[in-house]
Amino acid sequence: MKKTDLRSMAYAFIANETNVYFPDNGQECFVVERLSCNKCNTHWHTALLECYFCGELNYYLYQCSECGKNYSLTNASKTCNCGNSNAKLVKACVNPKCPTNTNEKIKEIATNEKGVFDLEASLNLSLMYCIKCGSPYNYYNSFKIFIYNDLKEKNFQEYISRIKKDLVKNDFIVVKNHKNSVLKYDFIRIKTTQNLELPKKYKFESVENLIDEILSI
Ligand SMILES: [Zn+2]
Ligand SMILES: [Zn+2]
Ligand SMILES: [Zn+2]
Repeated sequence: MKKTDLRSMAYAFIANETNVYFPDNGQECFVVERLSCNKCNTHWHTALLECYFCGELNYYLYQCSECGKNYSLTNASKTCNCGNSNAKLVKACVNPKCPTNTNEKIKEIATNEKGVFDLEASLNLSLMYCIKCGSPYNYYNSFKIFIYNDLKEKNFQEYISRIKKDLVKNDFIVVKNHKNSVLKYDFIRIKTTQNLELPKKYKFESVENLIDEILSI
């Protein structure tokens, strides 16, 4: 039963561009390994693409090659309503000063590749700089996630004494709380393994918000 909690949480971390693995020595946790900026520690999104020419990020839009109007990628029609017969919807760079928008020759190349951010285009790169501070340097850091589920454990101190040998600084214990049959989450970030206590409040109603917060630390 405990495994189910760990597994579903691990999948949620994988969906957030982190590597996850389960230690094979029976510890009740999984390890999260993520790429971070080595200056400001911001999570480095490896799935993000940037424009090769200007570094602008991919906002997942289609742009009309003639009138410049933007459409979301879910737009089914794939044509622009401007009526220009040359108009193509391409995954363009949104920066108006980008050479792919200002230089006719480069624009033509980009349009022929279906836009800078087309999956097969050669005009984008995975993120080269931190989106927050611009640093080009990143590193992998890792920490463990334990889960305390109040429905499955008798009491917190008993749980802690069971996992204590595996807990180290900067690990997290995610706490699932079912007060009044409403599932809420919070977490404890380990500074020291002495005098650990359950959170007083449970701030997170979804796993997504919880993970966002953990990855922003
Ligand atoms: Zn660009
Ligand atoms: Zn148009
Ligand atoms: Zn940074």
